[in-house]
Amino acid sequence: MEVFKGSFTQQEPIPEAAIAAALRVMQSGRLHRYNTVPGEVAEAALLEEEFAAATGARYCLAVASGGYALACALRAVGVQPGDRVLTNAFTLAPVPGAIASLGAVPVFVGVTEGLVIDLDDLAAKADQARVLMLSHMRGHICDMAALMRLCDARGVTVIEDCAHTMGASWAGRQSGRWGAMGCYSTQTYKHMNSGEGGLLISDDPGLMARAVLLSGSYMLYDRHRAAPPPEAFAALRLVTPNVSGRMDNLRAAILRPQLQDLARQCARWNERYHVVEAGLDQTPGLTLIARPEAEGFVASSFQFLLLDWQPAAIRAVLSRCAARGVELKWFGAPDPVGFTSRYDSWTYAPSAPMPASDRVLNGILDMRLPLTFSLEDCAQIARIIRAEVSAVYQGDLSAPEGGARGD
Ligand SMILES: *Cc1c(COP(=O)(O)O)cnc(C)c1O
Repeated sequence: MEVFKGSFTQQEPIPEAAIAAALRVMQSGRLHRYNTVPGEVAEAALLEEEFAAATGARYCLAVASGGYALACALRAVGVQPGDRVLTNAFTLAPVPGAIASLGAVPVFVGVTEGLVIDLDDLAAKADQARVLMLSHMRGHICDMAALMRLCDARGVTVIEDCAHTMGASWAGRQSGRWGAMGCYSTQTYKHMNSGEGGLLISDDPGLMARAVLLSGSYMLYDRHRAAPPPEAFAALRLVTPNVSGRMDNLRAAILRPQLQDLARQCARWNERYHVVEAGLDQTPGLTLIARPEAEGFVASSFQFLLLDWQPAAIRAVLSRCAARGVELKWFGAPDPVGFTSRYDSWTYAPSAPMPASDRVLNGILDMRLPLTFSLEDCAQIARIIRAEVSAVYQGDLSAPEGGARGD
């Protein structure tokens, strides 16, 4: 019986060019983004310029984390304490957390079997808020043209959480370029790794001027290279609070070489994804996630569904896979484990039950696909999952829980 030996949390090392750039920043001692000598352009400002160019956005701001980028975007679009903000029922805790950090109240929108936001549920709830914090959770992208039509018609401003879609697109337009602002994370488990970090993009000069001031630019915003012109700051500079959350030059230096390599890395993630997907195809009881033609996804993780399975049977799959070195996370556990919380776990934000979404959430299995895995590793992981899902589904269990089917 084969056992997988790799680590699901082991990312690749920081590239040599990034280490060299980091050393140069440390040798200079000028880690703060506004600590420059005459004629010097800070690494943070260069990163913003390069990320704006890479996404096609007019403006970019580097910040302390993805969660900071989300809260900063919410402040920039004018969300006030007590306001309601639409967001996904299936996302990660920092998303509703960013909304709650402003004293605003998340309104959760359901999830489909494609693991994207349910546009019918969004249409039903659109009157409750004027902002949607849209999370492209685990890199699954909804029909963005339809979503934008709906939100534009209802006067809902869209902020995109692109923590899992850096480098991805819908119908050829980059994720993060559909809404008013796009937010990215450069935390270790995302598509570029600076430990912690975030990026914010927009084409709107007023929103970006506010974001730059919010991030803690003092009156030094003219040192940015991907920020709006000084006129955009004139009416805002004295009325916008400083909610300090800048990125430093050390992180920016680590990220710039990674940005140059992003497309190649995205292709490598997708190679791994396709190997796992092919290995799990036609496994009885297991539902693969359909990936629409228009979705230019970047699959740094893999999800599948065990729809309508008894919890005990899913637990049997988890423990049997774990015994063979394959770490699956389950979004259906009644109590959150690790990062697998869901809308009804966030009890600071009241929510009504969503039975159709609960059916999906109860069946979501999730795993990371770090680039330290070889294609053969991915094939082996798929063989193990396939064998254990099949064994449990067919009721061929040494464990006492019994068969899988919910009937
Ligand atoms: C990681 C993540 C965030 C927050 O990013 P941090 O940089 O960790 O603050 C937000 N949304 C999603 C979906 C994430 O996975």
